[in-house]
Amino acid sequence: MELNDIKQIVRNELVASILETQEFLIVGNWKMNKTKDEVKVFLDDIANHDFGNKNTVVIIPPSAYLYLFEDQLRFSQVLYGTQNFYPKENGAFTGEFSIDMMKDFGCKYALAGHSERREIFMECDAFTAKKVRACLKNQIKPILCIGENLDQRQTTDYKQFLIDQLKRSLDRVEPKDLSNVIVAYEPIWAIGTGETATPEQVEEIHMHLRKFLVEQYGSEIGKEIPLLYGGSVNAKNVKELALAESVSGFLIGGASLNAKTLIEISNILNGK
Ligand code: PEP
Repeated sequence: MELNDIKQIVRNELVASILETQEFLIVGNWKMNKTKDEVKVFLDDIANHDFGNKNTVVIIPPSAYLYLFEDQLRFSQVLYGTQNFYPKENGAFTGEFSIDMMKDFGCKYALAGHSERREIFMECDAFTAKKVRACLKNQIKPILCIGENLDQRQTTDYKQFLIDQLKRSLDRVEPKDLSNVIVAYEPIWAIGTGETATPEQVEEIHMHLRKFLVEQYGSEIGKEIPLLYGGSVNAKNVKELALAESVSGFLIGGASLNAKTLIEISNILNGK
């Protein structure tokens, strides 16, 4: 056997063992997609699927369909959450979805600071931090998204931009609550574009974020905060990205809309 063949076998075994043992958080963000009937079919396809005990699978549908999730995922391992909400329990906020409503439907997670909320709906870091704090006060895990756009990546100190965005989006969050925060690095130039960051690019940013979190909150807390990657993740590239040592999971848009693809991604991240 050639040396290169032996190296390949060793590498394959290493990859298989990482995928079999490392815990991943797999989050599907459906954005503003699907009809009621499409949601029912999707949930039928996944409700009884065995996703294994290692990874956590979370789907974030449009809030209008949460009642179907509550109903159809009653006995399933799959968790769910909301894409958007107003950071108050209830009140005179016409058109908004409240914290109480999230809890009422059994949501365990919520997105905060997604680039589409920041760019299209002008949600700033201070409002994102309010959302993060409101989640934590109500036992909901916030998935805090941060990311630079193409111009920022090409012409500015994007690493410093990301640290500033993270710092401001975590403003006045109690250190004791940080173990329930999940941070998702989502470069805007990779969202919905088919262009994925390389594992090296993800690793570089994650290491930078980790250093900041450890310096800011101490190593016990700072090391524990999961760091996800999001941006055109699919069944073809997820394995390579999962091998970046820093990746605790993925925030997946387009590829999470199809039950078969979601199951395929979950199988890959279970080492199957
Ligand atoms: C997202 O919605 O956060 C996302 C990463 O989308 P996509 O996977 O389609 O790029």
